[in-house]
Amino acid sequence: MAEAGASTPLMDQYRAVQARYPGHLVLFRVGDFYETFGEDAKLLSRELEVVLTARSSDSRGERIPMAGVPHHAVESYLGRLVRKGYKVALCDQVEDARFAKGLVRREVTRVVTPGTVIEDRILPGPEHNFLVAIALPEAASAAFGAVDVTTGELYTGIVEGTGPTALLLALAPFAPREILLPLHAAPGSRESVEAALHGEFPSARLEAAPSSVGRDGWPAPLVASATGLPAPEEEVVGRIVRYVAATQPRLLPFLERLPRAPGDRRLRLDGKTLRHLEITRPMNPEGEGSPTLLSTWSETVTGPGRRTLGFWLRNPLSDVPAIVERQDAVAALLDLGEEMGGIRDVLRRVADLSRITARLAGRRLRPPELAAVRSSLQSVVEVRSILGAAGRAPATAALAERLDPLPELAHTLAAALPDEPPATVESGGLFRHGFHAGLDAARAQEEEALQELETLERTEALASGIKSLKIGYNQVFGYYFEVTRPHLARVPPHFRRKQTLSGAERFTSDALTALETRILEARERASEAELGRWEAFLAELEPEIPRLHRLSRAVGELDVLLAFAWIAYRRGYVRPLVDESTTLSIRAGRHPVLDVTLGERFVPNDTELDLVGTRLVVLTGPNMSGKSTYMRQVGLLVVLAQVGAFLPVASARIGRVSALYTRMGFTDEIARGKSSFMVEMTEVAEILASADERSLVLLDEVGRGTSTFDGLALAWATLREFHDRIRCRVYLATHYHQLSELTATLPGAATAHLAVEETGRGIVFLHRLVAGGTDRSFGIHVARLAGMPPGVVEEAERLLARLESGGLTLQDGARRPRSERPRFAQAVLLPTPMPPEDIEAAQVREALAALDTDRVTPMEALALLAEWKRRLHPAGTER
Ligand code: ATP
Repeated sequence: MAEAGASTPLMDQYRAVQARYPGHLVLFRVGDFYETFGEDAKLLSRELEVVLTARSSDSRGERIPMAGVPHHAVESYLGRLVRKGYKVALCDQVEDARFAKGLVRREVTRVVTPGTVIEDRILPGPEHNFLVAIALPEAASAAFGAVDVTTGELYTGIVEGTGPTALLLALAPFAPREILLPLHAAPGSRESVEAALHGEFPSARLEAAPSSVGRDGWPAPLVASATGLPAPEEEVVGRIVRYVAATQPRLLPFLERLPRAPGDRRLRLDGKTLRHLEITRPMNPEGEGSPTLLSTWSETVTGPGRRTLGFWLRNPLSDVPAIVERQDAVAALLDLGEEMGGIRDVLRRVADLSRITARLAGRRLRPPELAAVRSSLQSVVEVRSILGAAGRAPATAALAERLDPLPELAHTLAAALPDEPPATVESGGLFRHGFHAGLDAARAQEEEALQELETLERTEALASGIKSLKIGYNQVFGYYFEVTRPHLARVPPHFRRKQTLSGAERFTSDALTALETRILEARERASEAELGRWEAFLAELEPEIPRLHRLSRAVGELDVLLAFAWIAYRRGYVRPLVDESTTLSIRAGRHPVLDVTLGERFVPNDTELDLVGTRLVVLTGPNMSGKSTYMRQVGLLVVLAQVGAFLPVASARIGRVSALYTRMGFTDEIARGKSSFMVEMTEVAEILASADERSLVLLDEVGRGTSTFDGLALAWATLREFHDRIRCRVYLATHYHQLSELTATLPGAATAHLAVEETGRGIVFLHRLVAGGTDRSFGIHVARLAGMPPGVVEEAERLLARLESGGLTLQDGARRPRSERPRFAQAVLLPTPMPPEDIEAAQVREALAALDTDRVTPMEALALLAEWKRRLHPAGTER
């Protein structure tokens, strides 16, 4: 904020605006620049790398920091500020400086926030841009609402479960850009929610914002759709309504509450799963540009299509009839074969109607965008007639039916707009001749006067004998006769001198002045009539906005279904059977991203899980054999199947999954300040707390980040919990080969591994899934591939050989006299010297053999493991 004491009328005006717009970065128009002062100037200079200057601000010459951006480039700077999460208020001069008495009046004309922006140049792309609001009632479940003002879609829901994790799960599919929190919440709860939101959505802007009082200010359609809404949901809608009313009031009437899926039966994907499976973003934030499911499957041809695909992939269905309906549509389109290519070519010409519609509502529309709507409607008619041609399958005809070509709007636009509208409203020429009588009359007067101007030029040239006499125009002097120096002697007496140039003189005359007045007045009238008509015209188009939004959504959905069909057609993908069974059965499945990037080199694999047979598979296999890839493949195939897509498989039966949980790798959370083991345990704990029988769980290693026995004990206890209590479908990849052996005792579990072939020159990864466990990790082989120094690799091989021959045991080298200690300081491998621990070990082995693993509870298992560990490694010998 500006320093106290520094005061001039301009600074007072600036501070008054700042006070009215708390939390906003005020960009204050002064001349050709938007300026900021004081602390905001320092911030602007830092964030946008613009020069920080100073302005002397009062009579004593006190200087305050100042930084600004040129007004003509403000859009690009706004984009950068909004992407960095700022909320900006643009304060403009609202009267002409020439006519102002004293200080020019200034008002905030635009507020731009990350979640309510509608300008194409500021929005990051065609994907949804969600503003999210939450309610945190003390005695009831939390609620959320998510609105994309650029498409009018508003989704609301009650958060299932309690605590920040449940809230994050509910919000993950929206990837919010801005989040509105309640002003008041139970003590402490807002802080913990805020911290969790910040951790999960680091680039989203958070703000505490009030809700409306009752349904005050709600537009009628929202009121109608809110009947029977639970109080917390009503609160979030109210919070959104108030915020949009303050930032984009013109868009408010066009928000429409929609269901996300029939009965809200969706396949729930939390933020971690979305990241681990790289659904829309690469897992490694630095891997920007590396392929994701969305980027690989982006065969859509329109903005709405791309947006719909992203939204569907983040919100797969879990309602069998709804999935089958989409599959039927894909199948019907697939039957069109090559013809699909032609339809896609027409569809490609359809603009992002929703976004244009939002700018129409928000009055930030450029004339060519309306022309784009006009031509889009023509393309819609074309697509509709191809899809609706006689003899088409009912599903195809139904898709055609959904494309409302808005004939009245098409007619209005065709009648009103010229073939090529000007780039900006100010340029004039917005309407076709014959559309507006008053405008045409003013234009005709201007035209007539302009013709008289030509006549005047000719007559004066003739009368004076100055053949080169020309009438010209400039903004400062208006119209003038120009006479070059050699002809000055022939200038007639009724010419009055206006301006002297080096080689010529400029004059005017009564006739020219009179004509000028006529021309300028006619032009002014035309421009006034035109701008007035433009405003009225946009207002007339407003009633069509809801239909335009709906058409845009229908175009988006058709585009995605066509993309699925096109992909299936081109790549030979197959319709999965999705049903209410509890089976997950895939023949020759391929990873839907690697199938594209690796092509033929990708090795297909089967998947077989069923709640009535093997519901849990422990997956072992060497490093680099493809365990993670396989599990991601299973997850991605389920997501795609439940979105309605066809799959890269020979055949598949997917018993509906209601939630998909994954735990893979560490990368994303460590950066947020937690140890990798802590992250791992937190994630596993969350999955154990949330998973139910319809869940699919994919765990890549449990208990790896701690000591072997702790890890093994935790992995085993976790596995039992899934097998015995939760009883859902699970894949668990591990390097604990012991886990495969233990698994043999569980009726609902099996083991599998990814095979390798040992050749004389090393091993070959076959990437083929084979039943049964394996007891080799080939970690040293992989270490060599990774470029570990040859000395280290050779030493490791020597030690491994001795360990495997049974003549070695792990022992703490630190207890031996220094002279006897080998090169490695921690755990070292030595020939077995003495038997006492072996006695303990034998006893533990016996106890293990006697244990009935079917009867032991997870807690007992943990206790036993702890005891055995104590016996095998008495205190002080921990490694
Ligand atoms: P680690 O245990 O070290 O984490 P991993 O067993 O999980 O390894 P992945 O990371 O899944 O191994 O795969 C290793 C490499 O093998 C990847 O580069 C992947 O592209 C390739 N790969 C995995 N599965 C297949 C397959 N089915 N066909 C072809 N290549 C594959």
